[in-house]
Amino acid sequence: SQPFLSIKDLKVHFSTEDGTVKAVDGLSFDLARGKTLGIVGESGSGKSVTNLTILGLHNPDSTKVEGSIELDGEELNGASEKTLEKLRGNKMAMIFQDALASLSPYHTIGTQIGEVYRKHTGASKAEARARAIEMLKRVGIPQPDSRVDNYPHEFSGGMRQRAMIAMALVCDPKLLIADEPTTALDVTVQAQIMDLLKDLQQEFGTSIIFITHDLGVIADIADDVLVMYGGRCVERGPKAEVLRAPQHPYTWGLLGSMPSLEGPVDVPLTPIPGSPPSLLNPPSGCRFHPRCAFADKVEGGKCAKERPSLEIMDGRGNACHLTDDQRREFLSHAVAGK
Ligand code: SF4
Ligand code: MG
Repeated sequence: SQPFLSIKDLKVHFSTEDGTVKAVDGLSFDLARGKTLGIVGESGSGKSVTNLTILGLHNPDSTKVEGSIELDGEELNGASEKTLEKLRGNKMAMIFQDALASLSPYHTIGTQIGEVYRKHTGASKAEARARAIEMLKRVGIPQPDSRVDNYPHEFSGGMRQRAMIAMALVCDPKLLIADEPTTALDVTVQAQIMDLLKDLQQEFGTSIIFITHDLGVIADIADDVLVMYGGRCVERGPKAEVLRAPQHPYTWGLLGSMPSLEGPVDVPLTPIPGSPPSLLNPPSGCRFHPRCAFADKVEGGKCAKERPSLEIMDGRGNACHLTDDQRREFLSHAVAGK
């Protein structure tokens, strides 16, 4: 069947005073209905930019977007602001790390959730208020009938996150983009929010893109994982395969060089020596080559010369010049060496 979201050869380039920043440089992926794709990578890998671009929230004056972003059969790249405005909130919505950034301090929670609903449905104020109360209840806010009249500062951090989720889901969007939505919360609240998202996904059949630095979160919520490095996808596959049998040296690095053979992995990303690539002047060939411990294992200096292509078979693949035999050999050493 048709994927719900299909990204093809997406390029997002910004002009700056210093030159062109290639924040996303040839990214392709599909997302099926009701599934969760976890996107993982260091800061500056292009995760957030990709998702802001899907939502049409990039600055059109300084940003050049190439490639295709197809949502439910509709091309979004090049769509008018009016079209995107209509889709945002209604068909696709986003939740962030910082709920305060998406909630206004000057209006009650109920008014803000209600306004999104009114904008897309033309509902009356009374209907919108009833809907806001219903949504607050769904996301587990106690006493929604009175809490609906609170201002964001009267909510705890966890409750604000819930309110933001209520606002994002008020029009039953079919795509939810979650950018590190639990990073600022303590572990207990984080677990509650993750459970809430899973429940809501079950209930609404939402497709979710979940951006995170935390592999524990990926292990918990994702169906598939996409690993980004330097504005490109370096590895993609079902969660269990990527976490237990990663194929790309960058992913090995993220997992602390040692894939856990009995998942789930419950560790934050391991820092990898060296720094993420400059996207103003990215490394030639494989963008990971200046940091890769295996670059000299590939003949002819190919890693610095040729961009490894990403071959996806049955949803699984990597962009690396190593052969499968080399991969097996190096991985077994890495595991034995621990
Ligand atoms: Fe390392 Fe070469 Fe593979 Fe890039 S292509 S990850 S540099 S081995
Ligand atoms: Mg980010």
